[in-house]
Amino acid sequence: MAKKLTRRSFVGSAALATAVVSAPTVLRAARPKAVVIGGGAGGATAARYIAKDSKGGVDVTLIEPTRTYYTCFFSNLYLGGFREFDSIGHSYGNLASSYGINVVHDWAVGVDRDAKSVALAGGGSVPYDRLVVSPGIDFVDDSVPGWSVAAQNRMPHAFKAGSQTQLLKAQIDAMPDGGTYVMVAPPNPYRCPPGPYERVSMVAHVLKAKNPTAKILIFDPKEKFSKMALFQEGWENHYAGMIEWVGGDFGQVEEVRPESMEVVVDGEVTKADACNVIPAMKAGHIAEVAGLTNEGGWCPIVPATMQSRMDENIHVLGDATQNGDMPKSGFSANSQAKVAAMAVRSALTESKLFPPKFANTCWSLIGTDDGVKVGASYEATEEKIAKVDGFISQTGEDAALRKQTYEESIGWYDDITTDMFG
Ligand SMILES: Cc1cc2nc3c(=O)[nH]c(=O)nc-3n(C[C@H](O)[C@H](O)[C@H](O)COP(=O)(O)OP(=O)(O)OC[C@H]3O[C@@H](n4cnc5c(N)ncnc54)[C@H](O)[C@@H]3O)c2cc1C
Repeated sequence: MAKKLTRRSFVGSAALATAVVSAPTVLRAARPKAVVIGGGAGGATAARYIAKDSKGGVDVTLIEPTRTYYTCFFSNLYLGGFREFDSIGHSYGNLASSYGINVVHDWAVGVDRDAKSVALAGGGSVPYDRLVVSPGIDFVDDSVPGWSVAAQNRMPHAFKAGSQTQLLKAQIDAMPDGGTYVMVAPPNPYRCPPGPYERVSMVAHVLKAKNPTAKILIFDPKEKFSKMALFQEGWENHYAGMIEWVGGDFGQVEEVRPESMEVVVDGEVTKADACNVIPAMKAGHIAEVAGLTNEGGWCPIVPATMQSRMDENIHVLGDATQNGDMPKSGFSANSQAKVAAMAVRSALTESKLFPPKFANTCWSLIGTDDGVKVGASYEATEEKIAKVDGFISQTGEDAALRKQTYEESIGWYDDITTDMFG
């Protein structure tokens, strides 16, 4: 049942926000309220589609602490020198000015599911009729012994883009001649399955030009990884002898020592000049606070609508979900957001609900003009989002096809960020 937007509640909600980006103050009677937590790939898309497709029929509030969202997608290309940092930053101005979304720059710190309201760090609360939660990931405490977020300035994860990505780039640029870059790779499941290996490719690309005797070591708890044959072929072609991958069968990280920049694997100590620790992941903390996570730390969902299995008034998107076959990617989050937006709109305005469609493609750049991709389409079953068919680049492809794949990824980036942020 929609709640009335009274003058009192409007003034109250504007006052509690730390900042509201130029939201048009159109007072309408009894518009139902959709609130979105997290203005990343999933949340920004959901907010935009609910506002756009309801044509102002739903009052949309987006809660996001940062004023500029830096995409993790293409952050590796920044590390490799293929993108400027500013080119991966996106603001929320269009969502406010073109779509009438109330953009509240604050942290959601609690969800009262009975009262249907979200508590903000800055004080006060925002009521909802439907809530969308897309907070991305957080890291599992102690999954890499010796590492905690307190150590992220010594050993950056750079798996939330922004200052962490810049810090990692500074470490790479400051490596001494012949120095060692160490990556501690994450266990499954984690955001962007090919992301760590695209990153290694981009680091190698920079080092080959500036510091060709440097070495890259990857300590990986897994026995295999996404697009493994494609990456290994590319590493041999572009960076022969520079990259060593140590899989879970060959050595386990026992401890990292941020102060001395050491990594201990099966009793052997490696000194790193740059050290990228990517710990195990779980759904963003607010999902746990809201009681939306299972024992594995992820949010189970109803595939057809992206509703939480814990609360039908809440939809969960993107990396935070345990959805079945879809990988944790920006493309997936965007695709799931459109399904959730349609379901929210249908619930709040009784508009028609169409069968859901899901798709994903993950592109990776291995070297200059050497792009590869993996992707699939999916359908909603009762149990999970299930893969229907898929495709993957092949080893031995010619240079023209690889260049075309890279160019396709640039077009995708421009299109999808416009689809998210307007
Ligand atoms: C190195 C790297 C490369 C990648 N490359 C690709 C790629 O090429 N293609 C691709 O499709 N995907 C890629 N990804 C994955 C992609 O970035 C994620 O899958 C995607 O961002 C997930 O979207 P999301 O909405 O779930 O989370 P996010 O995009 O992380 O958004 C979460 C948002 O929620 C906000 N938030 C968190 N907690 C709160 C709270 N309590 N209150 C309010 N707001 C909150 C955060 O500030 C953040 O803005 C890559 C990831 C990495 C790390």
